[in-house]
Amino acid sequence: MATKYQITVDLNACDGVFACLVRDDRFEEAEDGLVTLAGSRRDGEELTAIFEDDRLSEAEDAAAACPTDAITVREVSSP
Ligand code: SF4
Repeated sequence: MATKYQITVDLNACDGVFACLVRDDRFEEAEDGLVTLAGSRRDGEELTAIFEDDRLSEAEDAAAACPTDAITVREVSSP
């Protein structure tokens, strides 16, 4: 079932451990050695992307695996 949710990555907290990549392949290594997220926009040290699909659990697994708690996932209610 499709769920609308927002993924936020705090790049100040990201330590380039890349535990997230193996849980959700939308996370990728960026040129600066930290993480980037497909479809995200960057605002300062924060990456944000909104998805509406059936991959919420993958994003939640990535967030749970991150040792620095840099990833936040929250559901967004549809209008
Ligand atoms: S698991 Fe966390 S610290 Fe590691 S690359 Fe991903 S967001 Fe950064």
